[in-house]
Amino acid sequence: MEGTKTRPILSFFLSLNYDLLEDAYGTHRMMQDTSLYPGFGGPKSKDSPSVISVSSSSGSSSAVLPNRSAHRTKSPIVISSDEEDELPKRPSSGASTLPSSGISPLETPLIPSLPPLKIRDLTQKKVDTIDLSSPVRFVSKPTPIPIPSNKDFLLQHSSPAYTYGRVQHTDTIPIADTSEDNVYISPAEAEKAIRELMSGGMGQELETEINMDDAIVKGFRQDIKLLPHQVIGRAWMKEREDPSKKRFGGILADDMGLGKTIQTLTRIVEGRARKSDRDDGWAATTLVVCPLALVEQWADEITKMAEDTTVLKHHGSSRTSDPTALRKFRVVVTTYDVVKSEYEAYMSGAKDESHTKLSSKKNSEAGSDDDTSSGALDKFGRSLNVKEKKTRPKSNKKSALFGVKWWRVVLDEAHSIKNVKTKGAISCCELEGKYRWCLTGTPMQNSVDELYSLFKFLRIKPYSNWTTFNEHVAKPVKTGRGAIRAMKRLQVVLNQIMLRRQKDQTLNGKALLDLPKRTVSVVSCEFDSSEKAFYAGLENKMESVIKKLMRNGQNNYISVLLLLLRLRQACNHPVLVAQDYKSDMEELDPKAKRSADDDDTDILVGAFSQLGVTRKCRVCTTELNSRNAAPDEPEHLCLDCVPFAQQAKQAEKTRPTSAKIRMILKLLADVKERSRGEEKTIIFSQFTKMLDLIEPFLKDKGIKYVRYDGSMDLKTRNESLQAIKTVKSVCVILISFKAGSTGLNLTACNNVILVDLWWNPALEDQAFDRAHRLGQKRDVHIFKLKIDETVEDRILTLQEKKRELARAALSGDKIKNMRLGMDDLLALFRPGGRDEDEED
Ligand SMILES: [Zn+2]
Repeated sequence: MEGTKTRPILSFFLSLNYDLLEDAYGTHRMMQDTSLYPGFGGPKSKDSPSVISVSSSSGSSSAVLPNRSAHRTKSPIVISSDEEDELPKRPSSGASTLPSSGISPLETPLIPSLPPLKIRDLTQKKVDTIDLSSPVRFVSKPTPIPIPSNKDFLLQHSSPAYTYGRVQHTDTIPIADTSEDNVYISPAEAEKAIRELMSGGMGQELETEINMDDAIVKGFRQDIKLLPHQVIGRAWMKEREDPSKKRFGGILADDMGLGKTIQTLTRIVEGRARKSDRDDGWAATTLVVCPLALVEQWADEITKMAEDTTVLKHHGSSRTSDPTALRKFRVVVTTYDVVKSEYEAYMSGAKDESHTKLSSKKNSEAGSDDDTSSGALDKFGRSLNVKEKKTRPKSNKKSALFGVKWWRVVLDEAHSIKNVKTKGAISCCELEGKYRWCLTGTPMQNSVDELYSLFKFLRIKPYSNWTTFNEHVAKPVKTGRGAIRAMKRLQVVLNQIMLRRQKDQTLNGKALLDLPKRTVSVVSCEFDSSEKAFYAGLENKMESVIKKLMRNGQNNYISVLLLLLRLRQACNHPVLVAQDYKSDMEELDPKAKRSADDDDTDILVGAFSQLGVTRKCRVCTTELNSRNAAPDEPEHLCLDCVPFAQQAKQAEKTRPTSAKIRMILKLLADVKERSRGEEKTIIFSQFTKMLDLIEPFLKDKGIKYVRYDGSMDLKTRNESLQAIKTVKSVCVILISFKAGSTGLNLTACNNVILVDLWWNPALEDQAFDRAHRLGQKRDVHIFKLKIDETVEDRILTLQEKKRELARAALSGDKIKNMRLGMDDLLALFRPGGRDEDEED
């Protein structure tokens, strides 16, 4: 079976007209994608490009979004040779001897160069081409895997088997020589460059022949057909599970919505353990680790797509403690928390039972171990041990996950382990699995260190070793010394182990996903007179507090955030304003906290906990003392804010509608009329209390709805999801933004109402993607509600600014982590409010 079938032939005709750095990186991505399919064979016909090149555009030097039409023209890729002085050329003779250190000089000339200082020269330089026709052979041992590249396509074309097939010992990736390069770029520049490297694609186009016979997967339900890019992914993943080449998995980093699950499933149904593997002790089971909220979805999709595949959901207190029970299933789905807790149980048990592997690690000098030589890890390991000693008299704690030699371990939303020092990351790395996979749409969010965690889990040598990774990649990037070389090294590794496609890419001239249309409308809602008065009073109060803060030189980010929060809440409903900060904190940090995208929220959570220390007015954050405290509620309110609190209380009692609630009802009525009751709607709010306020109005109108928020237990949440997906009469789901804006598949709904605006447009987009994704058959209508002439106007402006920034950086991922600066925050108050000169 392996490798004998006719394979799709890849030929890439790519033209790159990016500018400067972007140019170089964008090009890298081309190269990367190209080299990701070594097994596909070479260009079939003579007119396929035998030369790969990167051409740089001439012209302006500003970093702007490349004109998409510029990519349409097809020309061979040419690697510019700005760095030929640094990169060893492909030897012209057939054989090269590698040093036995395991770290080889960079053998392939296809690693595009990243000329830093000479970068401007790119625009003046004629591109050189590199002859790729000479074969390459690796004869000495131990021998790292050569980087697959277009070179290998050619090779393979002439001789079907890899010439280096038999001498591999590990999935070691050769990296560029480590000799000093003194090229300095600023650390910030380096981080930026890496990020762009990771964010990839930039709308590239891809031309390749795909055999759509491969869209049918034996073992899948009959009507399921892979999309073209998934056919490529299927073949690539298979290539990456090849023990004969010492390949044991990798990173599937496709954009969200491109079908990472289904591609992984092809492996699960096709890449099964054989009897000889089982004799070696491997279970025939794939372990999927994912956030709690996605367990059900994984199990669902597996049973839906691959009917004969048995699935066990392994979580909750009633889960089995018996490893053999797990081995009976084809797939076990569990959560990061369960892995962590079972690892702790396993570690505490390990001492007595002297489990060879782990206990030896504990007892030996941890630093000598290949994979745990990071100082931070040692520290963690030790502190963990200390803790165990105290709590040890336990016994039958559950640790079944660590009693199985998994055939395959898949980390979904693998950026969950981005921090290598966390227990979660350490635990996942300790899972035993023959094949290891990371699925993530954001392989790197903030720092290059995050990649180390993935490499470590994947056991990609040499970078699964912290010292090496730090020396070769992390340190150079952080200091700027040798950063270019570091990026090249990283590039080499990623070429080999990562597949990433972006939604806006095209394949053979077509979009990867043929999704229905998506329209986003900002809907202005109108305050009635009492709402208007309430808001105006509150805004005045907030502005005077801000002024006071500024005057006192208290540049208090947290207070400003909270004041803004109150204004945003007032746009939704007066009731929200008088809420205890504590409940705000709870809803902004629901228990079902989902993996990694919490940065924006975390600021607020931190803010609230800090507030707890002193007595502050719950509306305006003013510190309370005997003079300004309200007599009735001296703990919570200042005198000024009593009226707001009273109005809010009044509103709660009489439960009046609000501008936004009125608009929601109108929109729902419109949807119903337009679709004759066929279409369903998601309503997102950041405030669960707001969802509470909406509910009775839906009831009144006889609208059947379900709810999904972080305070609900998993079972109830899943029931909600089931209902909206399958029960025809249930046409609305109320979702708290925090709990449900990522991961969920809600294609049953094609209308989305965003009750309140979030700072960060990238997070909003994620929320929209719940409905606008693979499987959606209808056009998707998105309604963002806002009140005119309030803070929400300014938030929209801010979103636009952030979008611009993101566009400039050409990276959708990056924006996700943009925190608001103080300037941003202050600009959200009425412009006149802060620009007035204070008398000094
Ligand atoms: Zn107050």
